[in-house]
Amino acid sequence: MRVAVVGAGASGLVCSIRLSSDDYEVVLFDKNSICGKKILVTGNGRCNYWNGDQSICHYHSSTNDRLLSIITSSVQDEVLSFFSSLGVVPNIKNGWYYPYSNQASSIQKLLEEEAKRRGVVLALDNEVVDVKKENNHFFVYTKEGYEVFDYLVIATGSFAGIRNLDGVSGYSLAEKFGHHIVPVRPALVPLITKGSFLKDWSGVRTSCVVSLYEDCQFIKKEEGEIQLTDYGVSGICVFNLSRYVGVGIPEKEEKLVINFLPFLEDKSDSEVYEWFMKRGEELSNYSILSYLEGILPYKLIIVLLKVSHISRNSTWSSLSEEERNRLISCIVSFPLEVVGTKDIISSQVCSGGVSLNEVTDSLESKLVDHLYFTGEVLDVDGDCGGYNLGFSFMSGIIVSDDIRG
Ligand SMILES: Cc1cc2nc3c(=O)[nH]c(=O)nc-3n(C[C@H](O)[C@H](O)[C@H](O)COP(=O)(O)OP(=O)(O)OC[C@H]3O[C@@H](n4cnc5c(N)ncnc54)[C@H](O)[C@@H]3O)c2cc1C
Repeated sequence: MRVAVVGAGASGLVCSIRLSSDDYEVVLFDKNSICGKKILVTGNGRCNYWNGDQSICHYHSSTNDRLLSIITSSVQDEVLSFFSSLGVVPNIKNGWYYPYSNQASSIQKLLEEEAKRRGVVLALDNEVVDVKKENNHFFVYTKEGYEVFDYLVIATGSFAGIRNLDGVSGYSLAEKFGHHIVPVRPALVPLITKGSFLKDWSGVRTSCVVSLYEDCQFIKKEEGEIQLTDYGVSGICVFNLSRYVGVGIPEKEEKLVINFLPFLEDKSDSEVYEWFMKRGEELSNYSILSYLEGILPYKLIIVLLKVSHISRNSTWSSLSEEERNRLISCIVSFPLEVVGTKDIISSQVCSGGVSLNEVTDSLESKLVDHLYFTGEVLDVDGDCGGYNLGFSFMSGIIVSDDIRG
């Protein structure tokens, strides 16, 4: 049997390695001249390839109900044994898996070497420009000509993080077979917001709880480090909310509400007020700047005072009750109007892709026999923390197992 795998990224490599054998000749096409190019930039060059917390809530799709039957505990176990069989020892930080070498290139090289060792035919620098199926065979066209296969796996990833979007995408290859593409949007991406103060707080990194609202309706909240920038906000907690931004049609009004003191998040309004009052009694001689300095970064304090119209020369005790409430509200419920996401180049993944409604639990097309999809080309995206590579590896395993039968 001949299998064409289009895309030598995370999912295509794992799928090819697991399939290649005396029974299956696997040709792995990629338009790049190296395998797994994107793997090299993951996890800031360290490759966060897995997460120990595999709760399904960390994965997202427009057909969420399908995820449980695809992402099973047995395929999760298979990913870990696969990497262990490659000799990868994980360095685990809060459940986030990195290779012990702390180098993404280790994972990329190990996958490439294993593919070669297993006899996968690497057709690099070879963009697949067209595909069709005739008489039970797939015809895979590159600029060099075409080859004929029994199975076709589309493992072309998404547009995320890619500068040059010229060429033929996996989405358009899928559409040739009649598949529908759930709109593709940047996810895990910084957010652009309104605010005349953005330049003033640019460069601040601080802990917070950030909540996303759409037309005043609560969508989701995340806790973690936020990066305040001159265009808006970034950081892992913002990334995890970004997939929900810009989804509403017609456009909905989206707003972030930031609590810059996460330890007060679960307290009632009166408890929060009490906490500030007690601090005011303890620091009664302090200027309002010094009052805030032990709990918030300086640049942020300046913005909070400006937005709440409070003079930096005042003291807590000199503030009226209304001024105190205004300041507290700015600190624990800072509102930020969202304009949109940064563009797809700045994103780590895309939401959307080939609809899960049109594939089986084994990721085979319901429209065309022997056509499969793996990785990010599918309408599945994960939170930050190794879930996207994790899904890519799982899907590569699922498809290789199904083809082998
Ligand atoms: C900056 C950045 C950091 C990230 N960090 C992490 C992280 O730490 N942890 C994590 O879990 N995820 C991370 N991700 C996401 C992760 O890299 C992807 O989800 C994952 O690589 C997707 O795997 P894939 O196999 O679906 O696609 P890819 O790995 O993108 O591979 C697809 C391949 O298909 C090839 N291709 C596309 N079209 C064609 C064609 N027509 N013909 C031939 N070849 C084609 C491409 O050249 C590419 O090599 C990060 C992403 C970015 C951009």
